[in-house]
Amino acid sequence: MTVVDKCAECGAGLGAHDVGDGASVFLIFFLGITMVPAALALDHFVHPPGWVQGLLWPAVALGLVGLLMPAVKAYIILLEFRHRRGSRGDR
Ligand SMILES: [Zn+2]
Repeated sequence: MTVVDKCAECGAGLGAHDVGDGASVFLIFFLGITMVPAALALDHFVHPPGWVQGLLWPAVALGLVGLLMPAVKAYIILLEFRHRRGSRGDR
């Protein structure tokens, strides 16, 4: 997943923005806070066998990461672009 150098619509320089591990850390915290209670609640109320939990939650986690990572990365770039405008030679 790479960031394009320039926005196709307005030509804003996006290639200089380095998100680093920011999006991953945000998703680790968010998914940990939401998925651990969900797994505990499912276990408490439904009592599924362990192999169901073992297959379900990694699949859910991978699906959510694939779904949310581009949006979180774009949001961090948006925040960088907004608050550091001009400091990296864009615009
Ligand atoms: Zn643009």
